Amino acid sequence: MSFDSQPDPLASARETLRRVWGHGEFRGLQAPIVAEALAGRDVLAVLPTGGGKSVCYQIPSMLRSGVGLVVSPLIALMTDQVEALRQQGVAAARLDSGVGLDERSRIWAMAREGALDLLYVSPEGLFAGAMLERLKEIDLALIAIDEAHCVSQWGHDFRPDYRALGRLADQFPGVPRMAVTATADPRTRDDILQALRLENARVFVDSFARPNLQLSAERKATASRARTDQRVIELVSERRGRSGVVYCGSRDGAERLAEALKAAGVPAIAYHAGMEAAERERRLARFLAEDAAVMVATIAFGMGVDKPDVRFVIHADPPSSLEAYWQEVGRAGRDGEPAEAVTLYGPSDIAWSLRRLEGRPMDEAVRQVQARKARQLFAMLDGATCRPQAVRRYFGETDADRCGVCDLCLDPPARRDATVEAQKALAAVQRLGERFGRGRVVDHLLGRTKDVQDWEAGLSTWGVGANVDLSAWRDLIDHLLFEGLLVEDPNDGRPVLRLGEPDEVRAVYRGERRVETALRPVAAQAPVRRRRRDPLEGLDGDLKGRFERLRAWRRDRAAEQHVPPYVIF
Ligand code: ADP
Ligand code: MG
Ligand code: ZN
Repeated sequence: MSFDSQPDPLASARETLRRVWGHGEFRGLQAPIVAEALAGRDVLAVLPTGGGKSVCYQIPSMLRSGVGLVVSPLIALMTDQVEALRQQGVAAARLDSGVGLDERSRIWAMAREGALDLLYVSPEGLFAGAMLERLKEIDLALIAIDEAHCVSQWGHDFRPDYRALGRLADQFPGVPRMAVTATADPRTRDDILQALRLENARVFVDSFARPNLQLSAERKATASRARTDQRVIELVSERRGRSGVVYCGSRDGAERLAEALKAAGVPAIAYHAGMEAAERERRLARFLAEDAAVMVATIAFGMGVDKPDVRFVIHADPPSSLEAYWQEVGRAGRDGEPAEAVTLYGPSDIAWSLRRLEGRPMDEAVRQVQARKARQLFAMLDGATCRPQAVRRYFGETDADRCGVCDLCLDPPARRDATVEAQKALAAVQRLGERFGRGRVVDHLLGRTKDVQDWEAGLSTWGVGANVDLSAWRDLIDHLLFEGLLVEDPNDGRPVLRLGEPDEVRAVYRGERRVETALRPVAAQAPVRRRRRDPLEGLDGDLKGRFERLRAWRRDRAAEQHVPPYVIF
């Protein structure tokens, strides 16, 4: 049967996309990719992260007769996808080491009866035991290889098991195969085609570049909501008359900020999942119809919304990962005309991101991946590398050039190697037993701890940072939080600094990992801090003299950039 003779070969695919996922239309290269797979031909699809690769194989698997076999490299990824599919009413299952015997036989039975649409397996699982033999007894709709760059040594995630997937060509002749990846460089692509024996596959490549987007980010001056709202109002007011989206981390935040914007004369519309569907639809319709409307929304807004002339995206609160960031900023400038994205972020946001993960019921492995993703986002936001370049590198586009128009390209911040200071700060946190907040840690480094006690003054880190001023220390500690070298534990509202990933902290101690700070202005001026009284002032003569000598000695050594004797653990 040739699809050419049908009026719209994709009609039922579109219907499925709408019914199961709620997306109005295929986007980018999805439609031709799905059409190719429905027609039973092999495909290699290279689409950006967040580009929607999954439906490219999920929909043909559902529409063709038989089970779609999906090879996926990570149990966490499989679990996520299978869970999501099940919630959407799709018959999906996974076979990995975590699945018990009973469950296994139930899955195989379903697969044989044709009662399964998608079956997820790991590459190791595929070649272990009798898996291949059993699969041969099943009618397969399609074999999809997700994260296909794992077959390539040139990719960033080489997985030896993936190389063997080429054998599937002989084992399952006649079953169409689809490899999908977000890694776009040509060398990896050729390697994938060869290793997976996809000689006859059609190759679809979409770019990650968004050349019409001008990206910037600003550190929030304080954790104060009022100040952040004020800054957002300024940013939106400067862009009056243009359509935009303001993302907020919470429903309350979206409501509050929309009100504040309206009060400032901006046609703002709040939008979040707490509203009734009909109300959301009305608001969406208004946003689409009005030229200068500003949507103030949580992430509930955006999927499948295609307003071509959105001129700016402002994050009042940062997104959850670089993938989410790229997706959300990508909602601006779909018409290809210049558009902007401004992301506001602060240390309290990273703490909030990590805390939110703690509160969610999920696999520990999934949590760790998500926590790492949050940290990578903040490292980019607080970094000094061209933003699109940093994101595209993260996606595997190793040859991405500098964009030339982001805030960091236009106005490169002064950079300074602060590895020694970072070592001191980390050591101070460690020596203090990971029990204190940043104010106390900074005072400790400066040798200005109020009511300092013997034990503390006796630590090798006390006063070791007296050569750096208070605001620079605060700045550096924020940066260490953004890099994940420190984490801030909420501790019932009295936040405490703890060391981050031990391997990374150790690498800094050893000088193998350098820490650079980008000195740049913050969003709004931080309030001027009153100069503190010298904490030694109230001490009695003897003790005071001792501390003063100690402090002077520490200050001299600090000036020599002396690194205190750290505990390397
Ligand atoms: P990838 O694997 O390419 O990174 P996913 O398949 O996980 O991306 O899809 C990313 C997000 O995009 C998902 O939330 C998905 O539902 C959504 N998506 C996929 N296709 C479309 C579409 N045609 N329109 C709107 N959203 C889509
Ligand atoms: Mg994917
Ligand atoms: Zn740039």
